[in-house]
Amino acid sequence: MKWTPEAETAIKKVPFFVRKKVRRRVESEADAAGRRIVSLEDVKTTQKRYLSNMASEVKGYRLDVCFGPNGCPNRAMDTDALVQRLDQILREANLLDFLKQQVGERLKFHHEFRVTVAECPNACSQPQIKDIGIIGARRPNITAEPCSCCGECQSTCPDEAITVREDHGPVIDFSRCLSCGKCIDLCPTGTLSEGIRGYKVLLGGKLGRHPKLAQVLPGIFDEDEVLDIVKTCIGFYKEKSRHGKRFAEILTQEDFQSFVDRYSKPATMEKRRPNHAEKKRNV
Ligand code: SF4
Ligand code: SF4
Ligand code: SF4
Repeated sequence: MKWTPEAETAIKKVPFFVRKKVRRRVESEADAAGRRIVSLEDVKTTQKRYLSNMASEVKGYRLDVCFGPNGCPNRAMDTDALVQRLDQILREANLLDFLKQQVGERLKFHHEFRVTVAECPNACSQPQIKDIGIIGARRPNITAEPCSCCGECQSTCPDEAITVREDHGPVIDFSRCLSCGKCIDLCPTGTLSEGIRGYKVLLGGKLGRHPKLAQVLPGIFDEDEVLDIVKTCIGFYKEKSRHGKRFAEILTQEDFQSFVDRYSKPATMEKRRPNHAEKKRNV
């Protein structure tokens, strides 16, 4: 649907955490009224109705995803299935009733439990400032296939994590590699293959008066493991949060360490996919 420039300017002034929702609402109301162009009047009317009715719009949690599913070329993971399962877990946790008991009439959007998914390390959905941030990851693996020393992987890596040596082929500095998977897809010889695919998980980020950046749980986790971590976080939150305190506010460094002890795993324990040479050996 088209928007007039005045309508676009007005929607940009809506608080960022409800902007997407208000935008959708404006479009559906304009559509229902038979209009194909959204005007400033449409924005004002819908915004007024939405904000005056804010308490009834709070649903206890926010789950969002970056724009990867709209065709972003940087996607490391297709997260559709994960997001559906996350939504089910969050819905079944009945966080709205929990928050109503804790906060009562003062319940606002900023009390909600926030989970976000980014489909690559560019992290456009800001996982660093959410209670739980999930980032798609594909870590490369060096196979026994001969390297042609084309240099594509080295010049493409955004993190300067690969060096190609003529006598040796690619050398990856995994302390720099963010597991975006870019080098895997363009290697013409199969020297680089997909070693591990899954998700990084960040815990305990928020904005507001006392902002905090989320901390990264060491490791790359598969879908079931991510969901298990999320369930544990929700259980922890419901047990410890009182009067609307956010997960990020109650998660102490000791608590985070207990998540690390329980879930993090050394690279050797991650479920590595067999490389090309291993696959050939197994057939
Ligand atoms: S996080 Fe990555 S996949 Fe998602 S929109 Fe940003 S660049 Fe694209
Ligand atoms: S996965 Fe991404 S960050 Fe890691 S080495 Fe490859 S291109 Fe670089
Ligand atoms: S590892 Fe692949 S992309 Fe990198 S230099 Fe060798 S052949 Fe080229």
